Amino acid sequence: MINFEKLNFPSEGEIITFSSGLAKVPNYPIVPYIRGDGTGVDIWPATQKVIDAAVYKAYGAEKKINWFKVYAGDEACEVYGTYNYLPKDTIEAIKYFGVAIKGPLTTPVGGGIRSLNVALRQIFDLYSCVRPCRYYSGTPSPHKKPQDLDIIVYRENTEDIYMGIEWEAGDSNCIELINYLNKSLIPKSEKLKNKLISESAGIGIKPISKKGSQRHIKKAIEHAKKLTGNKRHVTLVHKGNIMKYTEGAFRDWGYELAVNEFRNDCITERESWILDNIENNNEITIENNARLIEPGFDKLTASKREIVCKEIQDVISSIFKSHGSNKWKDMVLVDDRIADSIFQQIQTRPQEYSIIATLNLNGDYISDAAAAIVGGLGMAPGANIGDNAAIFEATHGTAPKHAGLNRINPGSLILSGVMMLEYFGWNEAADLITKGISKSIEDKKVTYDLARLMEQKVDSLSCSDFANTIISFF
Ligand code: NAP
Repeated sequence: MINFEKLNFPSEGEIITFSSGLAKVPNYPIVPYIRGDGTGVDIWPATQKVIDAAVYKAYGAEKKINWFKVYAGDEACEVYGTYNYLPKDTIEAIKYFGVAIKGPLTTPVGGGIRSLNVALRQIFDLYSCVRPCRYYSGTPSPHKKPQDLDIIVYRENTEDIYMGIEWEAGDSNCIELINYLNKSLIPKSEKLKNKLISESAGIGIKPISKKGSQRHIKKAIEHAKKLTGNKRHVTLVHKGNIMKYTEGAFRDWGYELAVNEFRNDCITERESWILDNIENNNEITIENNARLIEPGFDKLTASKREIVCKEIQDVISSIFKSHGSNKWKDMVLVDDRIADSIFQQIQTRPQEYSIIATLNLNGDYISDAAAAIVGGLGMAPGANIGDNAAIFEATHGTAPKHAGLNRINPGSLILSGVMMLEYFGWNEAADLITKGISKSIEDKKVTYDLARLMEQKVDSLSCSDFANTIISFF
């Protein structure tokens, strides 16, 4: 038990525990919640009502969430004093109870205060940001077939240029670094030696580690293992053709993880290609398969041909028995795509994708682009997940001009609640909410943001009436 400065320890409920990165959820878990600033006052009560109603409908008295109010943002300053945006009580509560849900928080401007969302991710080492993008029938979308997109973006949350290690152009440290690179490090490299960084450049550092990449990709593969059919698919998205030792390494470490740690459950795209050819080839010889697999095989040098033949031989000897005879078709397919091509692919061939595992910056772009295809940020949920904690959150901001007017769309936070219920394994309750939202939208019973995009004129619902309508479809 912990002593809080201003919070009362919950009198009822149990603690969620973690073992090897997996949450063990009791029937009456205590879940801290942060209401959020701005429109948090509207969307949190709506969300809590919907989640409670779904849990009750699904399980009666057998399960119940014991909500525990904790403070962050403007509300925290009211309770704990000026500039106390993220009180120790809140950090201790989330650490102790493990899983939390939050509304949007204002990023304080000036005063050296960093983003509260980024702070929470760093404090709890929530290294995977998970953002599902799926279409709810009837949602206005700029796309002709938004229903074809059903993906989950796994965005690495702790590394990449988001670490903020950068120096402004002209800064003395920046000039010192540029001089060191230009005069000492670059000339030592055969490959780089004619390159020079301009003295007027700003510099940003992009650290990508094997540990950081693999723990994140592991979460994505574990998720894919729970899916069925062609959704058992993880695509590593990177810009490794340009950034070989960061984004390219992310891809290589991903494949290494797939074939080492998940050998019995995974097949790489290349391996599947080899096995497919072997299985459909009457004259099974290594040379024949190599000819089929490697474009321009006959024109390759003898040593390159040898490499391809050895690769095929290795695949046959290592996995033909376990993965052959079409068994590989039921396994998690791991492939990779260059980041720029995935922006095209999710628009032109969305059905081919399921889980996108990518780095921090790519993930930021891709998840917003995917959310736009299925109807915008108002319906895009998010979760930040680590080994000992998880925080579920609305992906939009505080939208201050709508705050307190009971008009904003609570969909993003409600769907984050759905993710939390799925994380608990409370799928029956999660499915009820998904069904309720789908039916509300199909019936055009929606908040102003969706109503204004609909082709026929629709009267919009308030935030609380949207929540009540969702519940009425349970
Ligand atoms: P914003 O709060 O996301 O609002 C921008 C616009 O997005 C709104 O004016 C509204 O558009 C639309 N919108 C936002 N939430 C919506 C919802 N629930 N339903 C429907 N439409 C919604 O972005 P911002 O104005 O740039 O940021 C405001 C504050 O939020 C800043 O302090 C920022 O740092 C913070 N922020 C927090 C988070 C977070 O906590 N995760 C994320 C982003 C930003 P219309 O007015 O056109 O309807």
